[in-house]
Amino acid sequence: MTMVAILTGAGISTDSGIPDYRGPDGEWTRDPEAEKVVTYAYYMADPEIRRRAWRMRLDGPVGRAEPNVAHRAIAAFEKRGNPVRVITQNVDGLHQLAGVSERKVLELHGSARSVVCTRCRVRSPMDEALDRVRAGEDDPACRDCGGILKSATVLFGQRLDPVVLGQAMSIAKGTEVFLAVGSSLQVQPAASLAKIAAEHGARLVIVNAQPTAYDEIADEVVREPIGTALPALLDRLL
Ligand code: ZN
Repeated sequence: MTMVAILTGAGISTDSGIPDYRGPDGEWTRDPEAEKVVTYAYYMADPEIRRRAWRMRLDGPVGRAEPNVAHRAIAAFEKRGNPVRVITQNVDGLHQLAGVSERKVLELHGSARSVVCTRCRVRSPMDEALDRVRAGEDDPACRDCGGILKSATVLFGQRLDPVVLGQAMSIAKGTEVFLAVGSSLQVQPAASLAKIAAEHGARLVIVNAQPTAYDEIADEVVREPIGTALPALLDRLL
């Protein structure tokens, strides 16, 4: 059995209707004001930014999104008994919804399916918070301590969870195959994870529509659409 680590980025979820916010047509690229909503300092300082963030979460694509064929191919790969770990830059929770075990998924940038209190750190489901927004609270506060609530994602200006990061590093060092799927590999730590895996002897396979800075050190680069390329790659690894 070959140990396989799969790093996923925005490209794996675009077929599920979740836009690539940073891409050339992305929301953050077109609208600098939208970027304030995902920047920690603005979010904490300005109630108007928070109200806008809650309205965006209400209308956002994550709650409606369904896993696509690529997410399901990874879940099927795990179900057949293959040692697999998923390291994702996405916050949409679609790997778990597709059926990948919770403990096999590392969410580098957190999850948009939970909220966290910025004061007491208590977590609760996003759906509960959105119900409160629908009921008229435009900036719902923590029920335990009154603190500011935010989605459990890593905003600009926040550090990644060092425990998650440490686990991702050790997976990259120990894996035999490292698939980078739908990631531009421009954002850290995703970029360095691919490099670390290659340096520690993993076979590096990059599946991405656009060239990445790591194509040269990859053993294989696939430009086909993820929905066809990933199931075929995983079949070959069986
Ligand atoms: Zn609290």
